[in-house]
Amino acid sequence: DEEARATARRAYELDRKHVFHSWSAQTLIDPMTISAASGSWVWDGEGNKLLDFSSQLVNTNIGHQHPRVVQAIQEQAGRLCTIAPQYVNDARSEAARLIAEVTPGDLDQIFFTNAGAEANEYAVRMARLHTGRHKVLTAFRSYHGGSTLAVNLTGDPRRWPNDRSDSGAVHFFAPFLYRTTFHSTTEKEESDRALEHLEQMICFEGPASIAAIVLESIPGTAGIMMPPPGYLVGVRELATKYGIVFIADEVMSGFGRSGKWFAIEHSVVVPDLITFAKGVNSGYVPLGGVAISPHIAATFATKAFPGGLTYSGHPLASAAVVSTITTMRDEGIVENAATIGETVIGPALRDFSQRHASVGEVRGTGVFWAIELVTDRATREPLAPYGSSSPVMNELIAACKQRGLLPFANFNRIHVVPPCNITRADAQLGLDIIDEVLDIADARIAV
Ligand code: PLP
Repeated sequence: DEEARATARRAYELDRKHVFHSWSAQTLIDPMTISAASGSWVWDGEGNKLLDFSSQLVNTNIGHQHPRVVQAIQEQAGRLCTIAPQYVNDARSEAARLIAEVTPGDLDQIFFTNAGAEANEYAVRMARLHTGRHKVLTAFRSYHGGSTLAVNLTGDPRRWPNDRSDSGAVHFFAPFLYRTTFHSTTEKEESDRALEHLEQMICFEGPASIAAIVLESIPGTAGIMMPPPGYLVGVRELATKYGIVFIADEVMSGFGRSGKWFAIEHSVVVPDLITFAKGVNSGYVPLGGVAISPHIAATFATKAFPGGLTYSGHPLASAAVVSTITTMRDEGIVENAATIGETVIGPALRDFSQRHASVGEVRGTGVFWAIELVTDRATREPLAPYGSSSPVMNELIAACKQRGLLPFANFNRIHVVPPCNITRADAQLGLDIIDEVLDIADARIAV
């Protein structure tokens, strides 16, 4: 109605005047207003309904405003809004128990942070104190967060303006057959050569100086490159061989996104530390953390861990975790993500790659998919250069929104990352819109 539109317009004016936005030139942006959301849908300031194929920043795994999670937060707010981390709190204890239960292997202790970047900061701190070493090996084509160390671990252009020579981060190439660094022609070759490269990196950087290897189990924002069979097993073996802590960043890939609780479960590998955030409670209240294996925890058994946060294991956020995990189990939401990937998104995307000249490759699992757009299938020239956008990509994003779809796009890619509990019908609706928009991409590259 008119009153809601007036409220939205006022919010926009105040935003432009007072809100300083992430990753942006402040005067060159025109942010969309979102006034309401429910399940897989959001409403903009004009009251238009859009299908959220982005899950915001790939975090609303349980959809927007799930009534059980909302109720759990409300009940916790009525009982106890906040309590410092040195005290025992029932919501926090239960959240830790449930996270330990869903993480693979023996990762049974949880350090809570406010979000994903801090989770990586603290995981690296643990690894450094555990090993007495400083360097951290991490992949190009990765994202690990916006804080100083996390952005230095990151292997994308957002690191460049933030580079610090003392960060200890050293980057290597992870497997990506479509744009292979290793001149591979098969997944097996790509995996073997990427592991050879990683071992050489370790040897030439000096094994005794490397505290950790930090790797997204499936790289997310960087392009959803599925690790080839054997790669993560090989990384685990190298980490063990050289006494390096293996940190799996599951901030985006965890909690159902890949069709399993954690993406690393596709590989039967147990890392030493798992970092998480986002889907752990769908971001209803900010929370992240580190799941810790016993041998790392043992380092801090009688020696203090030098780190902490006022809101570590915040009760409202923890109550949201308890409700999210319980609801995901009760409603089979992880299984739904797997089924939607296998029977709806995967088949549709493979069909797009047959029919649309602009589609270079599609890849993914669960509700975690990327469409790699190119100007030429033979040369694989991306539809936008690495690290930036292009008029065509901007046109495609606008066309999605005009048709009622909120997409997630990065460089030359559109990602299909809806909530894990999206219905078949809604998933199909979104895919039909992308199908139409790809016609525009095909037409642009034909001229
Ligand atoms: N790690 C990965 C893999 C991510 O995708 C993100 C966020 O997109 C982060 C870390 C950082 O998380 P946050 O923005 O909650 O600090």
